[in-house]
Amino acid sequence: MIRINENYRKLQASYLFSDIAKRVNSFQQAHPDRRIIKLGIGDVTRALPSACISAFHRAVDEMADDATFRGYGPEQGYPFLREKIARYDYQERGADISAEEVFISDGAKCDSGNIQEIFADSVVVAIPDPVYPVYLDTNVMAGRTGPYKDGRYEGIVYLEGTRQNGFIPDLPDRPVDLIYLCYPNNPTGAAITKPQLKAWVDYARKHRALLLYDAAYEAFVRDESLPKTIYEIDGAREVAIEFRSFSKTAGFTGTRCAFTVVPKSCQAYMADGQSVLVHSLWLRRHTTKFNGVSYPVQRAVEAAYDEEGRRQCRELTDYYLENAALIREKMTAMGYDCIGGENSPYIWVQGHIDSWKFFDLLLEKAGVVCTPGAGFGRCGEGYIRISAFNSHENVQQAMNRITEALSSK
Ligand SMILES: *Cc1c(COP(=O)(O)O)cnc(C)c1O
Repeated sequence: MIRINENYRKLQASYLFSDIAKRVNSFQQAHPDRRIIKLGIGDVTRALPSACISAFHRAVDEMADDATFRGYGPEQGYPFLREKIARYDYQERGADISAEEVFISDGAKCDSGNIQEIFADSVVVAIPDPVYPVYLDTNVMAGRTGPYKDGRYEGIVYLEGTRQNGFIPDLPDRPVDLIYLCYPNNPTGAAITKPQLKAWVDYARKHRALLLYDAAYEAFVRDESLPKTIYEIDGAREVAIEFRSFSKTAGFTGTRCAFTVVPKSCQAYMADGQSVLVHSLWLRRHTTKFNGVSYPVQRAVEAAYDEEGRRQCRELTDYYLENAALIREKMTAMGYDCIGGENSPYIWVQGHIDSWKFFDLLLEKAGVVCTPGAGFGRCGEGYIRISAFNSHENVQQAMNRITEALSSK
């Protein structure tokens, strides 16, 4: 008899985006003449940088000719790309990371979801609330939790984000082994400072824990005092894995390319205390289960590191940051407390009402779609996330409508 992995039965169906879609559809049916503006989903809206597109086309042409055709590439990614990443994203910022420590993949979602399988079933996992759901659900699937009760899985140590801590959780009050962090954060837009991140690195060193640092939004950091990579923090090379993606930084959500950095000095332990290099485990996992990102895509990403490519990526993130600044300014002017929107494309707004009530209010009064904070965890209740991924025109119009609707209330 073929049995299932019963851990899957513990998963809570995520109704968040389908519930949003249902409410939006019924509103649209009732008001067919209203133009709805979507500031809900975390996906980019602008085209790939032209530098990437040109390189992409050239690489496709190489595939059309026997003389330049390429078959399977290295599972870890082509050296031309890994070297550029090591140099521009790390060494030039004073972070000691080599090309051999970079693993190219087709997404930070897969990598941050897959990484847990190289660790023991019994590790104690700490996960922020509110959170990007991948970290939690992949640990549930792997059987690291008990059942779901009162909005939480048993066995997970939840790191609570609150107004008081600015959605940068305090260190856990009991020992944990595997810690997920994401900054600048999705959904809250909060950015961590170097001293705050240093406290986590010190905690991990002291407890022989490992940090899983999701830096998918690093390209939105404009405040030079904030870390763009965890390896700017002393000691992080021993205790941190970093996930990066070209999805939000260069518009690759539909084209797919990301990478994970596993320093050769990161260690994990056997039951008897003997240490093992995390790099060798991840190398084994990656080369066994993954066959590389397509060659033209890696060439397209490589071009994002040219002078022109870097300028264009900067322009892309600047564009969304202008939207974020406008959203933040308008919500703040109406008296709402906001987190994020300065070094991040998300603005997390405290509504002082139920998340879904706030969502309905914006939809019905302004025809604007946001994301209810409660969908990201218990600590998200009372908040909404507004995304800056849309055109200037749409964001301007959305903010005018919101201002008009909420001021006349
Ligand atoms: C969008 C996003 C990613 C990127 O995922 P990809 O699979 O690379 O597209 C990773 N982490 C967070 C928190 C995100 O919001």
